[in-house]
Amino acid sequence: MKFSSLGSGSEGNCWLFSDAHPVHPTLVMVDCGFATKEVVARLERVGVKPEAITGIVVTHEHGDHVSGVFKFSRKFNTPVFLTHGTWQAALRSKHSTENYLETGLVSLIDSHSSFSVGQVLIDPFPVPHDAREPIQMLLRVSGFTAGILTDCGHATPHMLSKLSQADALVLESNHCPTMLAQSPYPESLKRRVGGHYGHLSNQVACQILEHLKFKRLRYVVAAHLSRNTNCPDLVSRMWAEVLGPAGVPFGVACQDNGFAWWDLQNVSAKLPASEPTGESSGNVDQSEFDGESEQAAA
Ligand SMILES: [Zn+2]
Ligand SMILES: [Zn+2]
Repeated sequence: MKFSSLGSGSEGNCWLFSDAHPVHPTLVMVDCGFATKEVVARLERVGVKPEAITGIVVTHEHGDHVSGVFKFSRKFNTPVFLTHGTWQAALRSKHSTENYLETGLVSLIDSHSSFSVGQVLIDPFPVPHDAREPIQMLLRVSGFTAGILTDCGHATPHMLSKLSQADALVLESNHCPTMLAQSPYPESLKRRVGGHYGHLSNQVACQILEHLKFKRLRYVVAAHLSRNTNCPDLVSRMWAEVLGPAGVPFGVACQDNGFAWWDLQNVSAKLPASEPTGESSGNVDQSEFDGESEQAAA
């Protein structure tokens, strides 16, 4: 299995997982929080034609995850998989319309039941986040399991037991609590982001890694970093301390460049050359959390 990100952060998230079949690869897109033109351009960057996407699995209805899903699906006839709650919330926030069900492209999934997208078996699990019926998931291909966990307020025993099956993991490390407290965000937003249904802080991400590092885990990618209340250098330092003793390599996905393809089943696989390090923006971006805070208020 290999995976890549077209971008990760509160301005848009999109992940690709592939079984890397040499002739007929399955390409699972997880979330699509970018406009179609932007997704197509970013797909080109990682050598993927939009028609080649086998299906899109949507984790929840926040704009940075769903805003591009239905336009992309309509344009390229791509099947979409999401929970009933996420579908209802997507309708309510006008990301899609009721009659889209008639296209046959939408499959409503159960947040506890596995389903297949091409040759990849998706094993979803519910997570605590301020959305209607949010999921994250394991993706399985012939004995190899990748996991993804972003947009989650705290670690539950069920999530940890699921993630302990993962050979590779994409894990949110959203914010530094001190930087969040000192940020210019309104108090309500600070409470939401740092709350039990918000986002994983660097500290909680490290606790999760601590729990998983001596299990099956062989690769990890840090995701959904806030531009304004986190810093990739800080995440790298904290993660190195936790993962170093276990010899688990990790990378950091960023908003603009995402993460280049990483071959997870090749044990000698190196981190992608384009792997960004030390990138940080001191600018206050007003779009940060906008999509989500609107949803949270709904
Ligand atoms: Zn998000
Ligand atoms: Zn969210």
